[in-house]
Amino acid sequence: MKTTGSVQTISKNIEAVKARLLALGEMRPGSLTRQYNVCGKPNCRCKDPEHPRRHGPYYKLSYAHKGKFTTQFIRKEALAQVRSELANYKKFRSLSAQWVDLALQLAKLKLTLLP
Ligand SMILES: [Zn+2]
Repeated sequence: MKTTGSVQTISKNIEAVKARLLALGEMRPGSLTRQYNVCGKPNCRCKDPEHPRRHGPYYKLSYAHKGKFTTQFIRKEALAQVRSELANYKKFRSLSAQWVDLALQLAKLKLTLLP
């Protein structure tokens, strides 16, 4: 970890990270996957021996929270909202990591400045 900049510069950068965190919209953790399924109906298009056309796409959201792994299906109508929430969560994680990084730089620098 590089410690460049003065106490003032690092503090200013921390304030900038905080402002970006406050501006974040709705969020949720997880990752989206798309899948196509085969059904149970005999002679269905999804089981065509020549050109099988499986059903879908279906969108599945997976995430772990408090040690519990969860998956759920997401309706097409909710996709845009969920994608935006997932993107915000990534920003949240990235900004939190930046804050910790800056906080450690600041703490280290302050110790060197003690008389
Ligand atoms: Zn089918």
